[in-house]
Amino acid sequence: MSSAHKQKSVFVGSFVHSKSLEVLEVLHDLAVFVDEKGVIVAIEEHCDKQQALQVIAPKLGWTIGDVSVRVAAPGQFFFPGFIDTHIHAPQYPNVGIFGKTTLLDWLNTYTFPMESSLSSISKAKRVYTRCIQRTLSHGTTTASYYATISVPSTNLLSDLCLTLGQRAFIGRCCMDSLAPDYYRDESAATSIADTKATMDHIAKIDPTNALITPIITPRFAPACTRELMHGLGALQKETGFPVQTHISENKNEVKLVKEMFPGFESYTHVYDGHGLLTPKTILAHAVHLTEAEVDLIKAREGKISHCPCSNSAITSGTAKVRMMLNKGLDIGLGTDVSGGYSPSILEAVRQASLVSRHVAMEGDDDSKLSIEEVLYLGTKGGAKVVGLEDKIGSFGLGMEWDAQLIGLGNVPVDVDQDGIEEESPVDIFGWENWEERIAKWVFNGDDRNTLAVWVKGRLVHERK
Ligand SMILES: [Zn+2]
Repeated sequence: MSSAHKQKSVFVGSFVHSKSLEVLEVLHDLAVFVDEKGVIVAIEEHCDKQQALQVIAPKLGWTIGDVSVRVAAPGQFFFPGFIDTHIHAPQYPNVGIFGKTTLLDWLNTYTFPMESSLSSISKAKRVYTRCIQRTLSHGTTTASYYATISVPSTNLLSDLCLTLGQRAFIGRCCMDSLAPDYYRDESAATSIADTKATMDHIAKIDPTNALITPIITPRFAPACTRELMHGLGALQKETGFPVQTHISENKNEVKLVKEMFPGFESYTHVYDGHGLLTPKTILAHAVHLTEAEVDLIKAREGKISHCPCSNSAITSGTAKVRMMLNKGLDIGLGTDVSGGYSPSILEAVRQASLVSRHVAMEGDDDSKLSIEEVLYLGTKGGAKVVGLEDKIGSFGLGMEWDAQLIGLGNVPVDVDQDGIEEESPVDIFGWENWEERIAKWVFNGDDRNTLAVWVKGRLVHERK
């Protein structure tokens, strides 16, 4: 287990979080009490720092000297940590590098060479450490990672997430077909055995999966033999661990799946036919699904990771999020680094809004997503996708403290005064209401606004 210092904490000030897809709640003068396990044990309204320490802490049996206090300054707010439901840690050095490629040539040109090179442990350590630090600095408290086929470097990613304090799902990438000789599992049997080895490692370092959980990761149907997919489906049934994979990202890929799996009605049916479409399955992209496929995913309670930044960058298409929401699917956001060029879920939030406007321009005006909806996808929606909605994604009694403190810049009233005190890309003049402040953060904010980040009560990032 991590040796991080565990302490009782109280957080005081303004809080913003999603109640539902449509409702974003803004609360002021709130005090949230978090015990040494990182669990919210009390929430008090109309409470300032002094009351929190003098009145409430003693009621909880807390000694004031043991409690750390963080007060959000006026205008600052606590927000749930972001949840990245789809990210490839080994592709992090390639962010922004995709040229004019689309999915299948992008994999061969940029992705497979980089991923295979991370069988070097020293290189993997450098890349993974930076990827975790960078995503934490953008407020990502939970990430569902694809690693590589290498067992030691996948285990290293688990170790680093635990040490640096990021909640993570770690998936050794399984691929025994249609990948270059230099980067492919030898057989379905070795792929499954190696996957089990990474599960055994996590069982040793985090036996209760308090922070780190294995995730079964067939890369995508074209890179897996039927034997491998059947084996991984059986492994899911046996272990109960979640599954992640890609689906219907690009039109040529959908065509390829049709050719490779002629006995199946659709791409979705391929996963379903191998025991891989379950309530714990995260399907990334879902750009070109038919309504019948969406219905099948709904029937199996499968989850969707919407990756708008990636879908635009490598020209995959515009996912029909409103249609999938209307059919009742649970949807979260993914950066899909490095198909997506940004490690930031706030950027994914923004891109989800813009892509929904492109869908609207294609003729369906109802498809536009509101600020409330895109922020929901990045937090509470993501929590549902990774099966942790009872613990993270919003604030509530009994939930765990995965949070970020957001600060926006205040423009001085006197323009002759020297500069602005905070380094912030968002300018607040003081007349904006909270709805407007949050909109300005969503469209102009970045990691400079993420002042501090906590996972399970532990401070894991602070902006200096
Ligand atoms: Zn991906």
